[in-house]
Amino acid sequence: MLSEKGGADGGHPPEHAPRFAERAPDALNNPQLRRNFRRAMDGLMAKRAAQFPDPAYWAELRERGAAVKARALAKLPDLLERLEARLTTNGVQVHWAETTEEANAIVLGILQRAGARTVIKGKSMVSEEMHLNAHLERHGIEAVESDLGEYIIQLAGETPSHIVMPCIHKNKDEISDLFAEKIPGLERTGDVDELTAAARRVLRERFAQADAGISGVNFAVAETGTLVLIENEGNGRLSTTMPPLHIAVTGIEKVVELLDDIPPLLALLPRSATGQPITTYVNMISGPRKKGEMGKAGEKDGPTAVHLVLLDAGRSRVYQDVELADTLRCIRCAACMNHCPVYTRVGGHTYNAIYPGPIGKILTPQLQGLDAAGDQPHASTLCNACAEVCPVKIPIPDLLVRLRREAVRPTETPATHLPVVKDGGAERSWNEALVWAGWRLVYTRPLLYRMVTRALAWGGNWVPAGAPLMRDWTTARTKPRFKPRTLHDLARERGYPNRLELDEVPK
Ligand code: SF4
Repeated sequence: MLSEKGGADGGHPPEHAPRFAERAPDALNNPQLRRNFRRAMDGLMAKRAAQFPDPAYWAELRERGAAVKARALAKLPDLLERLEARLTTNGVQVHWAETTEEANAIVLGILQRAGARTVIKGKSMVSEEMHLNAHLERHGIEAVESDLGEYIIQLAGETPSHIVMPCIHKNKDEISDLFAEKIPGLERTGDVDELTAAARRVLRERFAQADAGISGVNFAVAETGTLVLIENEGNGRLSTTMPPLHIAVTGIEKVVELLDDIPPLLALLPRSATGQPITTYVNMISGPRKKGEMGKAGEKDGPTAVHLVLLDAGRSRVYQDVELADTLRCIRCAACMNHCPVYTRVGGHTYNAIYPGPIGKILTPQLQGLDAAGDQPHASTLCNACAEVCPVKIPIPDLLVRLRREAVRPTETPATHLPVVKDGGAERSWNEALVWAGWRLVYTRPLLYRMVTRALAWGGNWVPAGAPLMRDWTTARTKPRFKPRTLHDLARERGYPNRLELDEVPK
């Protein structure tokens, strides 16, 4: 059942953490980071484009994907109950967590009851949201990431900078240095195959020793009680089948109604994410290892116990708003961030959030509240690239504008929509309100407008790059030069009618 309170948090950043605008200059002034991202994102964009050469096919497929997710959301409370009932019949134990703290406590409790000391983990953004590894470590349980990208950032003590390729900000040389420092007995090597083999050697041992495996879930099918998990390295399959205990953690929005809903989503997700027609592994988990019955032999492998933790952490609150609920259609393909002109220049760490890029800019403020993340919706050019590539048609720019409105809404003004976003008005600043009031004054008075633009054209170039109003722009960019003649001058020269003089500007 969906929570009335809607849970909380969604993985808060530390208090007083620098905001996006304060962190961005570091990334913009780091040429190595920018090269790493540029190269990786150009490659991903080209690979995705090659997967959808026919616009009609792409339009039809994403229509189906969006419809599947929209139908699932329309029936979400019912589907979650059906999922629980079906999984329980299959022998999976289902747990509900309203907050990330509750989810951590549930996972820890399961592990402690099983006497587990070491855990091997498949990739899971929800577990990042929960800060699960740190929680387990505080209670004496070692969690080792087995996805190669996650393993690398765990060794580096960092957080993921991308939701599909967590260590995309690092290049081969940086990984070589890291492995040589952290993997005992490994000589520094620049050979990618040797690096991969070294990680495989370490991780194979960890798979064999682990008392439990923890994974995420891409889709949970209510009809059959099936947990679908896609991956390329086989680590997801090993994490969910080798240890005697498997715990899956996922957000409540991952449920879909039918097994038949999976093929269109599988046709969209890997193509949008990595430009692959399909991932190397598609795992469909329907329960623990079956025991032998009535003289028949039981299954020989698989965990003897499977648990699913369904996390709310603010999602029910998002769900209550007709407009913002579209956010929950996300299938975490990352295509929006791969195509975002902001993300591709500053990388994921600048957002200081679990979910960076366009999806993070709409999801994080809704999960954590505008007080904590109200600056995120402003870190966008609203160029629409994210909406064009989103395989489930989430109108990201519309939602960014909605959240911007919520963030600067005067607190005394009643919300035009259901006020489900926490901390409405959290980003409101009197200075900014004054600037906009001035802007409105100038733009609605033609004579004043002409005088101001002329003054800017004449005097703008004298303003030093480090002046207060310029500084935010010039920290990482060249100062723009104002042209001596305005657009209106040029238009007049070419004989275009001057609508300002016709006084057609609405007041
Ligand atoms: S918002 Fe769309 S493009 Fe971005 S991660 Fe989610 S599904 Fe993919």
